[in-house]
Amino acid sequence: MVGVSDPTGDETVVDATPEQVLAVAEQMVDLPWPADGSDDDLPWVLDGLEGTSLWLAHVLPLAARAEPAQVRALLDPLVALADRRWAVRHRFDATAHTDDARTMADPSAYDRRSAPAGMVRSLGASTAPWWRCAGHAVLLVDGGDRAALLVLPVEWMGRPGAAEAALATPLGRDLVSGDRARVLTAVWEVIRTRDPAVLGPLVPALPAIREVADDADLGGALISNRTHLAHALLRVRLHGEGACLCLAYPDHQLYDVVKEVDRGHVTVVGTVPNPRQWEDDRICACTGCGRRYQVEQGDYHYPWWAWTPRDGGASGEPDEVG
Ligand SMILES: [Zn+2]
Repeated sequence: MVGVSDPTGDETVVDATPEQVLAVAEQMVDLPWPADGSDDDLPWVLDGLEGTSLWLAHVLPLAARAEPAQVRALLDPLVALADRRWAVRHRFDATAHTDDARTMADPSAYDRRSAPAGMVRSLGASTAPWWRCAGHAVLLVDGGDRAALLVLPVEWMGRPGAAEAALATPLGRDLVSGDRARVLTAVWEVIRTRDPAVLGPLVPALPAIREVADDADLGGALISNRTHLAHALLRVRLHGEGACLCLAYPDHQLYDVVKEVDRGHVTVVGTVPNPRQWEDDRICACTGCGRRYQVEQGDYHYPWWAWTPRDGGASGEPDEVG
C-alpha cells in the first residue's frame, strides 16, 4: 500500500493505475460522513488506497510534493478515463464562488459552491474538472506539485437554491449570524419545536449552517453551547429523514418532562421508583409515534433528564406503575 503522506518528506505519487483510482472513486460515494458537529476526520482505505472523509468531501490524495510534470502525467490519463466512464466533463471555477464578509453579513448572498471552491483553492488550484457519478461530483484537483480526487454530494456544485433560500429565513439568518446570542436563541427554538414549518426549511441549509457554525465562538459554561447547537442540527436532520423527533431525547440532557408535556410532545403514563434520585422515574409516551421512554431526573450543578427508550414501548404493552 502506498499513501501520499510520506513522513520522510520525499515526493510521492499514488501507486495505482487510472482504472484503480476510478474504481476507488466509485466506492467513495458510499463512504460514511463524520458525525454532525464532529471535528474529526474519518480515515479510510479502499483497495489499498488511503483517504480521509472531511465534513464536505471524501478526499483521495494522489500526489504530494511531486514534480508538476509528474502530476500531469498522473492526471492526464485519469481525465481521459473519467471522460469515457462518466461521459460529460464539467469545469468548476473555484475563483467564481467565494464566501467572504459580504456573505457572512448577508446570508442570502451565501453561495454553497463557496465551500468546494475553498477546498479546491486550498489545494493550490483555481479550476478543476469534474464528473457526475451516482449523485455525487468527482473532482480532480491539480495543485501543481500535489493532486487529489474529491467526492462530494453533487448539490454542492449547483446553483444557489433551497439552501440559500433557507438561509434567508429569520431562523436561518440567526443560525449563521455568528452572533452568540442570536445563534443560541435560534438553537433553543429548534430544540423546543416539532413544527415542520420551522424545521423543514432548515433541512437543505444544514451543511451551510454547519460550515458557518463551526467557526462561531459560542462559549458555554457547564455544557458547551456547541453541544446544544449540534443537538439542534441533529433535530433538523431527524426531521429531514422523516424520523419522529422523540428520537432526539436520548442525545440531550435538558429535555424537561413537564415542558415536553406542556408542548404536547409526550404524556406521562407511569412512574418507576428510583432509589438514586429524589424524583421517581417517569414513563413518557411520545404523542407522535407512541414510543415510550423512561426518564430519570437528577440534579448535579443543574437539573438534567436522562431519556432511555423502553424496549417494546411502541407496541403498547403495559408498563409497571410505581
Ligand atoms: Zn416519537
